[in-house]
Amino acid sequence: VIWLGQAEHSVITTCAYCGVGCGFKAEMKGTQVVRMVPWKDGQANEGHSCVKGRFAWGYATHQDRMLKPMIRRKITDPWQEVSWDEAINHAANEFRRIQQEHGRESIGGITSSRCTNEETYLVQKLVRAAFGNNNVDTCARVCHSPTGYGLKQTLGESAGTQTFASVDHSDVILVIGANPTDGHPVFASRLKRRLRQGAQLIVIDPRRIDLVRSPHVQAAHHLQLKPGTNVAVITAFAHVIVSEGLVDEAFVAERCEAKSFNEWRNFVTRAEHSPEATEAITGVSAAELRAAARLFARGMNGRRNAAIYYGLGVTEHSQGSTMVMGIANLAMATGNVGREGVGVNPLRGQNNVQGSCDMGSFPHELPGYRHVSDSTIRAEFEAAWGVALDAEPGLRIPNMFDAALGGSFKGLYCQGEDIAQSDPNTQHVSAALSAMECIVVQDLFLNETAKFAHVFLPGSSFLEKDGTFTNAERRLSRVRKVMPPKAGLADWEVTQQLANALGYPMAYRHPAEIMAEIAALTPSFRGIDYAKLDRLGSVQWPCNDEAPEGTPTMHVERFVRGKGRFVITQYVATDEKVTRRFPLLLTTGRILSQYNVGAQTRRTDNNRWHAEDRLEIHPHDAEERGIREGDWVGIFSRAGETVLRALVTERMQPGVVYTTFHFPESGANVITTDNSDWATNCPEYKVTAVQVMPVMQP
Ligand code: SF4
Repeated sequence: VIWLGQAEHSVITTCAYCGVGCGFKAEMKGTQVVRMVPWKDGQANEGHSCVKGRFAWGYATHQDRMLKPMIRRKITDPWQEVSWDEAINHAANEFRRIQQEHGRESIGGITSSRCTNEETYLVQKLVRAAFGNNNVDTCARVCHSPTGYGLKQTLGESAGTQTFASVDHSDVILVIGANPTDGHPVFASRLKRRLRQGAQLIVIDPRRIDLVRSPHVQAAHHLQLKPGTNVAVITAFAHVIVSEGLVDEAFVAERCEAKSFNEWRNFVTRAEHSPEATEAITGVSAAELRAAARLFARGMNGRRNAAIYYGLGVTEHSQGSTMVMGIANLAMATGNVGREGVGVNPLRGQNNVQGSCDMGSFPHELPGYRHVSDSTIRAEFEAAWGVALDAEPGLRIPNMFDAALGGSFKGLYCQGEDIAQSDPNTQHVSAALSAMECIVVQDLFLNETAKFAHVFLPGSSFLEKDGTFTNAERRLSRVRKVMPPKAGLADWEVTQQLANALGYPMAYRHPAEIMAEIAALTPSFRGIDYAKLDRLGSVQWPCNDEAPEGTPTMHVERFVRGKGRFVITQYVATDEKVTRRFPLLLTTGRILSQYNVGAQTRRTDNNRWHAEDRLEIHPHDAEERGIREGDWVGIFSRAGETVLRALVTERMQPGVVYTTFHFPESGANVITTDNSDWATNCPEYKVTAVQVMPVMQP
């Protein structure tokens, strides 16, 4: 730790890493951050923090920051530094030219879950009002888009149901496809505290994550399924609960649709969904699954609060949306919705995944998850924005890539997201980006996507702007400017100037005015303003006349959609099959000290704790291939190949290998395929058939 001197003043702000959304006190000396101290009154963290938020903020002032706007005619030309006006006018002229030559639908925008709500709102408004189409998408496409879809279909709202503090009242905790210890450390500490108090834990995960057995914590059941079989497991879970009479009949009769429940009950009780019948598919012992399902439904010692927490191991599958709906089915059938200690809780990876979805950055939804085809809703936005809006959903990110390769999509405004690194099948993405005529990248660093860009607009870090982030509990917290934007403009100001250069006027003087517009146009945000956030510290939406101080627990007396809806969850095996050529399944995840593609954490001392991705492999698979700990191994898939060093560990089950995705040059996304969720196109990052062989050091 470097001593940076005494602080002169401090500013309360919010961590820019994970979806826990910890509050921090930025201790300042002039405009220099001296240290980040976890805020004891932060409602998401209550004074706790992890190594990312506490120590890994130095990326914000790192020497790699790009501080000058730049343009170039061709991507083979050198970059030329220009003024903000010149860069923004160049981008606007190019977008205008492309639309004149190729049509209104030929350009689009991508927002980032790392940016504030206000910035995300402005990008989708720019696309809809100034570009004149709905070609806007968010990086949440590649992580939690199935959550948005699945929870809307079943419960009626695309969000988690609880506060983090709710876990203090849980008796049984079911963690599916998430590794909170590494991904959401502050919440993991809270969860472990509850386990130490006696709550029981069930883990469904292909890998023996830390929670399964760590000091003072041991899962009652670990269902170590084969990657890609989530839906078969959750349906077998439901089979046990229904066929053994463990349904909360009173809750279902009062709160849920009778027709959909009866159809679902008839479906899950079929013999083919029994744990015994699915054992060969899932790899989970029928006896273990039956015991886990009974524990979940019955609770312990007469206490029946069962909560479900899940992560990307649920969503990043070809049946991600089906699995989210299977989780919601389970919570409804057992009466575990609508009070503290229960619920369906997606653990969001990035700081503002929830917010970027709330703000209307999906191509089919305006802010507040209202479909663009709804003429009444459109009319409200048209009146406020002064333009006619397109009623047709626009292109999702993968559709943009396909359209670019097909020649109909030519221009992209990409704010705060490195799609060349973070999207699957890198070769396909690179070809699509190469086919576009104007890519505008707005980022802190000259990232991989910038290699394909024609305009580079410097981004601003969370220390350089005002705004809000919305964490995984639907909690809006203030982000406060502690230093002026290093490149002169905050991200929201850049988007505003681009809109003006395109002839669509925007004249916000402060992000508070953007939030006021969001609140006016979005019923669940109607009661939110900066003064209230300053007064209360944070607010969980919905916040409006019915809930002026926000809503900690959702669906209390009725579901947002009225009656809860059960959905049939037919298991369909992924196309990504093991074969003699590709006999192992690769799955991916996170590690505590690093974050996503590493753009931030790898520019800090956190790199000392974990400086490379490793391939985790079971001793049996390693021995079969002559692989020893630390050996270099080649990983070959149908999409590509890469090289990592091996970590031989019994955390893995035979037949399954694992790596993190923090070092894109190691190539996790070079080998992932184009398979995606049937409903939302969320990539199937979690299942890739591979072969692993020893290789020479690269
Ligand atoms: Fe930041 Fe998440 Fe760590 Fe909290 S738990 S300090 S929000 S990375």
